[in-house]
Amino acid sequence: MLNQNELQMKKHNFSAGPSILPQEVIDNTAKAILNFNDSGLSLMEVSHRSKDFQEVMDKAVALFKELLNIPEGYSVIFLGGGASLQFCMVPYNFLEKKAAYLNTGTWAKKALKEAKGFGEVIEVASSAESNYTYIPQDYIIPTDADYFHITTNNTIYGTEIKHDIDSPVPLIADMSSDILSRPIDVSKYVCIYGGAQKNIAPSGVTFVIIKDDALGKVSRYIPTMLNYKTHIDNGSMFNTPPVVPIYAAEQTLLWIKEQGGVKEMERRAIEKSDMLYHEIDRNKLFVGTANKEDRSRMNICFVMTPEYKDLEADFLKFATDRGMVGIKGHRSVGGFRASCYNAMSKDSVQALIDCMQEFEKLH
Ligand SMILES: *Cc1c(COP(=O)(O)O)cnc(C)c1O
Repeated sequence: MLNQNELQMKKHNFSAGPSILPQEVIDNTAKAILNFNDSGLSLMEVSHRSKDFQEVMDKAVALFKELLNIPEGYSVIFLGGGASLQFCMVPYNFLEKKAAYLNTGTWAKKALKEAKGFGEVIEVASSAESNYTYIPQDYIIPTDADYFHITTNNTIYGTEIKHDIDSPVPLIADMSSDILSRPIDVSKYVCIYGGAQKNIAPSGVTFVIIKDDALGKVSRYIPTMLNYKTHIDNGSMFNTPPVVPIYAAEQTLLWIKEQGGVKEMERRAIEKSDMLYHEIDRNKLFVGTANKEDRSRMNICFVMTPEYKDLEADFLKFATDRGMVGIKGHRSVGGFRASCYNAMSKDSVQALIDCMQEFEKLH
């Protein structure tokens, strides 16, 4: 029997999140939902403490550590609540007096706002005045801050910090939308977190990588569920974890390993984003919105040049009719955003480029 995808026109899923996943991850998760490990039970109805699921959890943690070369002394946990809950869990667990934040977009700003409820917050730099088109370079991180928080990829504005920065104080990063798209030096961070729905799994699970000895330095009471230590000590099983998304995450991690790891993901991300940015820069109808040096490899934002502004809705329809999905830009930027996460194929990027070229010929 043909599956849904084969019956329909090929869809090229450029959605920002929840977003594209490798087809085999979707297939394997679907199978496990019907019959988990030939148990005659659905993945949705087995105990999270069953031997079979414990194995999934252990493998997901081990693969995460292996793929990102996470050093000894770090824990990987899977939680609920999305990256948004981390905006308060981070200060709850790490902010004693003062924290520093880099304001590079909507998510960075939300994280900063939440921290203000816990202590003094220094915004070391911001690109808000230019609608977040660049990553600020010249800023001073106060050396008496408990930590410095960055958002490595700004999903909405299409800018990205593509290297591991040096920080004189413990570094914490929201990597929701570029995790596993390049090798990272985890030892430079005390905490890395993100919602899984951009590059790993369906929504419903959040990963957190934590340096164990960076915890325990705040004097406040931390509610049990918001205390990282609770989840580290209980192997992400203090309460019922999101079983299905964790299964999908484990499948994605396995897929990345089979494809050649994060180095290969990076090679592909560079190749795909270079192809698309090259077309944006070449095509007379389009212009990129982000500062060239800071362009994201994951979320590629572009608008119509002022001359052709009126054609925006036409292009959206033209591309949609040809199978492009999710390319409408976020309302704060307008125009278009093509999210090219790990699972996005080069062929799909080429299909979008073909649309842009065909449309250019018509005008
Ligand atoms: C999507 C996103 C978030 C929000 O994630 P939720 O899981 O919906 O809370 C936070 N930060 C970044 C960088 C994102 O892309």
